Amino acid sequence: MIEVTRLTKRYGGKPAVDGVGFTARQGRVTGFLGPNGAGKSTTLRLLLGLDRPDDGTALIGGRRYRDLRHPLRTVGALLDGAGPVPGRRGVDHLAWIAQSNRIPRRRVHEVLDLAGLSDVAGRRVKGYSLGMRQRLGIAAALLGDPEVLVLDEPVNGLDPDGIRWVRNLLRGYAASGRTVLLSSHLMAETAGTADDVVVIAGGRVAAHGPLDEISAGH
Ligand code: ADP
Ligand code: ADP
Repeated sequence: MIEVTRLTKRYGGKPAVDGVGFTARQGRVTGFLGPNGAGKSTTLRLLLGLDRPDDGTALIGGRRYRDLRHPLRTVGALLDGAGPVPGRRGVDHLAWIAQSNRIPRRRVHEVLDLAGLSDVAGRRVKGYSLGMRQRLGIAAALLGDPEVLVLDEPVNGLDPDGIRWVRNLLRGYAASGRTVLLSSHLMAETAGTADDVVVIAGGRVAAHGPLDEISAGH
């Protein structure tokens, strides 16, 4: 479970995130929806320990990210801009993450297979399409078979096949009792996948609840 409480972060005195609070429950896909500049990425960065809040807390399974015993086995994340090294082969990118996190090598081949990348795993990432890079990023998030998945705009660059793949993956993950947070600026992406939605605008939560209730009220 993800619990965010009164989370606040200012850049140069200006709040990017201003008292944000929500929970993302186990067994559900929670959509984190808002326009560009709303504060989504900042919230995810705070949640994943990449930045420190000025106030409030962001907890995963009751702990701050940096207090997690097995970070990659607890939470897998796809973040904007945190891509693989272009000159590296896809398989080496995953193998390197697995090795630095004591994840067995066979898991690399499992996630490559899950992501539909087995055939291109031996090629260098610079030859990958945007969609293939996105699949590789998602494969990396799955390496630790984590309890919690946090994905920032996961369907970017994906074709309809890839979009269906992400949707089924997230639904399957939630169905197995895990927690999924899907951040997006596209209502349509969230609508087909999420059970619950947190709407964020101007660094504040504008609405939070089951998708059917939120869509009915807007
Ligand atoms: P979103 O992910 O919803 O597009 P962000 O969290 O990236 O929104 O940004 C929220 C606000 O915070 C924006 O006004 C953005 O310009 C600002 N911001 C984000 N990161 C920084 C930073 N490192 N320095 C200064 N301003 C930032
Ligand atoms: P500490 O002072 O606990 O050794 P830091 O200097 O890294 O840690 O952190 C500065 C402050 O930011 C601390 O009060 C810490 O509790 C807080 N902090 C860091 N990450 C989070 C988080 N995800 N949620 C809430 N507070 C956090």
